[in-house]
Amino acid sequence: MKTVIIIGGGLSGLIAGIRLSRAGFKCTLIEKKIYPFHRVCGEYISNETLEFLTTENLYPAEFHPAQIHRFQLSTTSGKQATLSLDLGGFGISRYAMDNFLYEIALSAGVACHLNEEVIEVASHKNTFLVKSDKKQYTGDLVIGGMGKRSRIDASLNRSYFTKPSPYAAVKYHIVSDHAHDTIALHNFAGGYCGVSNIENNKTNLCYLVHRDLLRHAGDIKTLEEKVLFKNPLLKKIFTTSEFLFEKPETISEISFVTKEPVWKNIVMTGDAAGMIAPLCGNGMAMAIHSAKLLTDILIENETRSQAYIEKIYSRVWKQHFSSRLRFGRFVQNNLFGNSWSSNLAMRIAVDLPIIARWIIRNTHGKSF
Ligand SMILES: Cc1cc2nc3c(=O)[nH]c(=O)nc-3n(C[C@H](O)[C@H](O)[C@H](O)COP(=O)(O)OP(=O)(O)OC[C@H]3O[C@@H](n4cnc5c(N)ncnc54)[C@H](O)[C@@H]3O)c2cc1C
Repeated sequence: MKTVIIIGGGLSGLIAGIRLSRAGFKCTLIEKKIYPFHRVCGEYISNETLEFLTTENLYPAEFHPAQIHRFQLSTTSGKQATLSLDLGGFGISRYAMDNFLYEIALSAGVACHLNEEVIEVASHKNTFLVKSDKKQYTGDLVIGGMGKRSRIDASLNRSYFTKPSPYAAVKYHIVSDHAHDTIALHNFAGGYCGVSNIENNKTNLCYLVHRDLLRHAGDIKTLEEKVLFKNPLLKKIFTTSEFLFEKPETISEISFVTKEPVWKNIVMTGDAAGMIAPLCGNGMAMAIHSAKLLTDILIENETRSQAYIEKIYSRVWKQHFSSRLRFGRFVQNNLFGNSWSSNLAMRIAVDLPIIARWIIRNTHGKSF
């Protein structure tokens, strides 16, 4: 029986652990936080995951996620258009979803160590030594599910870590009159804000902004009033909704640079392998899909060598995600965040819905 150590218990780490444990692997998952907890995320999960989650009994039906089939886009000045989404998605908080998967992982037999941070990984003669701030573990394989940016990446000398990471993000849960079936992407100069519903008729409000803009504003409240409020649709949401958190969830140092699906013999899943711009709305679907692809390979090739697993996974990962990530970077860099380009995106959406659909199709995957 293979012993697998998983770094990080986000969607990809938890799903990898659940599937491998169900298939008879001995899994240890190390997560630095304690469930349930809030994460900065738009909390819209593309329906490309639906068949997989339902088949594996991982769809969180008991929370009655919001069912989302429409997409609203607004320019920095508040001009708007609405399109239908072919595949659509569902809205659920990470607070609920990650804890739901964590409980399934426990019952599937994954040994979960919470409140523990991996600080070092070394491999020697087909055995890995993983050190956390509390203990030391040995395993036959290590899965890196540690998300977009982790201190362990620095200790592994991953090249992306030294590249500029110029974005910050802010998230709230609010009570608003936002349409239950719609995900909105409202632009403002220097960033964009997603709005969509989650469980219990709550709404997620989450925006990505260039850190220079935040620095210039001095604080979040001033940034919102001086910059986001220039889009009248955002001003209305901010000034008429009830805000449920005492203070927003925030993260910084976000980047979308290219990473590697395998690094120093660690097989990476989700954002640790590559992060798509949030405006594409399917980073979580990619995290779930990458965990499925990796675990399929491991289950089918249990007796194969580490080198074989690395080679096949790298190939399959690139086939599925490379062009989507490239396209996501292009859209992030060229179509959003300033008034000229968002107005162009708007005109495309209004006048040429075929092109708008083409963009959505190229940043999304197919049902898996
Ligand atoms: C602003 C913003 C909005 C987004 N909105 C959406 C959206 O609406 N829809 C969508 O599909 N995607 C969205 N995404 C992307 C989505 O959040 C990610 O793609 C997804 O969470 C990736 O899952 P993951 O399993 O790779 O990592 P994560 O979910 O980030 O989990 C990584 C875990 O690893 C843990 N960890 C890190 N380092 C260590 C360590 N050294 N030791 C132990 N544990 C560690 C962390 O605590 C964390 O729990 C958004 C992202 C951002 C930034």
